[in-house]
Amino acid sequence: MMRLNAGIPEGPIADKWTAYRSAAKLVNPNNKRKLDIIVVGTGLAGASAAATLGQLGYNVKVFCYQDTPRRAHSIAAQGGINAAKNYPNDGDSVYRLFYDTIKGGDYRSREANVYRLAEVSNQIIDLCVAQGVPFAREYGGLLTNRSFGGAQVSRTFYARGQTGQQLLLGAYSALSRQIDAGNVTLYNRRDVLDMVLVDGKARGIIARNLVTGAIERFAAHAVVLATGGYGNVFYLSTNAMGSNVSPAWSAYKKGALFGNPSFTQIHPTCIPVHGEFQSKLTLMSESLRNDGRIWVPAYKKDVDRLRSKEIKPSEIPDSDRDYYLERRYPAFGNLVPRDVASRAAKERCDAGYGVSSTGFAVFLDFADAIKRKGQGTIDALYGNLFQMYEQIVADSPYETPMMIYPAVHYTMGGLWVDYELMTTVPGLYAIGECNFSDHGANRLGASALMQGLADGYFILPATISNYLAAEIHTPRFDPDGSEFTLAAEKVRERLVRLKNTGGKQSVDHYHRQLGRLMWENCGMARSQPGLEEALERLPLLREEFHANVCIPGSLDEYNPELEKAWRVADFLELGELMVRDALQRRESCGGHFREEYQTPDGEALRNDEDFTFVGAWEYKGKSCAAELHREDLNFEVVKPSQRSYK
Ligand SMILES: Cc1cc2nc3c(=O)[nH]c(=O)nc-3n(C[C@H](O)[C@H](O)[C@H](O)COP(=O)(O)OP(=O)(O)OC[C@H]3O[C@@H](n4cnc5c(N)ncnc54)[C@H](O)[C@@H]3O)c2cc1C
Repeated sequence: MMRLNAGIPEGPIADKWTAYRSAAKLVNPNNKRKLDIIVVGTGLAGASAAATLGQLGYNVKVFCYQDTPRRAHSIAAQGGINAAKNYPNDGDSVYRLFYDTIKGGDYRSREANVYRLAEVSNQIIDLCVAQGVPFAREYGGLLTNRSFGGAQVSRTFYARGQTGQQLLLGAYSALSRQIDAGNVTLYNRRDVLDMVLVDGKARGIIARNLVTGAIERFAAHAVVLATGGYGNVFYLSTNAMGSNVSPAWSAYKKGALFGNPSFTQIHPTCIPVHGEFQSKLTLMSESLRNDGRIWVPAYKKDVDRLRSKEIKPSEIPDSDRDYYLERRYPAFGNLVPRDVASRAAKERCDAGYGVSSTGFAVFLDFADAIKRKGQGTIDALYGNLFQMYEQIVADSPYETPMMIYPAVHYTMGGLWVDYELMTTVPGLYAIGECNFSDHGANRLGASALMQGLADGYFILPATISNYLAAEIHTPRFDPDGSEFTLAAEKVRERLVRLKNTGGKQSVDHYHRQLGRLMWENCGMARSQPGLEEALERLPLLREEFHANVCIPGSLDEYNPELEKAWRVADFLELGELMVRDALQRRESCGGHFREEYQTPDGEALRNDEDFTFVGAWEYKGKSCAAELHREDLNFEVVKPSQRSYK
């Protein structure tokens, strides 16, 4: 039985990271030049890692499938990034950020990693300010903060509703500087499809050139995956359309364990689904819950009149509204964590109080805030989000409350990594949303950007030298070597097989079906019968896809349908692993809600005795079920307790 060793340093929690760095092996500057590192991904995690590794003097090759690193999905992040600076003097500290993150993750994350994340958070802000990231400021010039769900302090730094974009511009500038200096080579428009291992160590990748269709090989001493999350398995999600699981999935098939695949975050404030052929959902940032009040009508008669447009929301008096989050969770109100807010919206809509024509929407209302703070202030805080909503829904949130509903947004699962962010394949690292992450069963708002940048700017660059110090005598790898040739041939064979299927249905046809199945059976709420049904239906859907998918165009040209087909083929396999993971976890925690396990008042019911572990799955071959390994989680500092936001 494989024993997972996270390699957490000894000593008090506050000293672990310092102690680790003092003892880690270093690589001297002359030797760094001889070492090649591949970074796949140029989102916040990948761009920050590649820029920092280049600055340190390593020879870096960085890959993305977009035409420019600036178009990575990270650009979509709206609300903000957390740090424990305590600028508002409201009692924040590294310990509190650590505590809130552990609790918010429903006690399913590693204490040592989360503490390190909180510790490093303050350095991120200093670095980004030095890069010129235009964070919002107070009148006196100090950076200002807002609140996010799951916290009673204001610790979220932001740049209007475009924090991800501004942070990415900072990381991109740092990366461009290294490209110009010759330390980093950028390979854009490359779809990374496979990992290459030599003697059990990660030594390279196989990529398809998306413009010419050529299969290309790249070698290095270590490979870093920063390829983001896999929420698109649900078809409809807030993720960028091209977000995929393929590089992580190929790593899984080559021996990297996949951690907590069923841990999906559902975000409560998305624009509701409005059509059968919609391909994307739009997020309305969680920061809006600072000033927006969430409600549905208290009486069914008003629901019917709203749905038939007989009355406007403003005609329902306050006394006839149910501000259900404020009612159920007085201490946190509208700022409860995302999983709590999402489930509460689902509960009201399932009970028949949903306000849209589909019945799957609740109101996010700014009328009180506009009255209290004035339209100018609200505009300064959220103006671009209001405009975005109006463009999509053709309704002004200044006049009518927004309609929102929960949607798939983030995946807490991903490649299992140890304290050094190394997967179970030596020399293969995973950072940012691509790893199984520090967020446990639920991610608090504004903490994904924090984790991506912590991993990329500070943690990976410090831990990778501990591995590379033993590689300084390893000569550069030949990408024409037998392992590379074999991997490239296999990739080409699979592409040919997909292309030659010669079926009748589009890739999207199958992706939509997969998404519906996953949402209904392994989405916001899951049950044993639903999960078992999914396990029966998924192999049939996969079979049908491989027998009947139609991919026009050819292999050796720009072919977006072929790109999608590869991704969907991987999603069809991943879906099954997610369902298996959800089935074995007989408890409700965080965003993972098993209907069988709930308290009498409908809250998630954890089972700490049996499930305080990370579930990490090992690939056992095409025709065998994956094997589950456990990393037991030890809580020495924060004792798990029933999560309460009341
Ligand atoms: C609408 C929205 C709003 C959000 N708002 C916030 C927020 O306010 N605060 C917060 O903390 N978090 C937020 N998040 C979450 C956060 O943005 C993401 O978790 C984070 O940006 C992920 O960064 P990343 O670097 O790990 O991956 P990504 O930004 O997804 O980057 C992935 C990179 O990998 C590359 N890649 C992927 N697959 C391949 C492949 N096969 N071949 C080659 N390259 C590949 C891509 O080209 C890209 O460069 C938000 C997310 C969304 C969707």
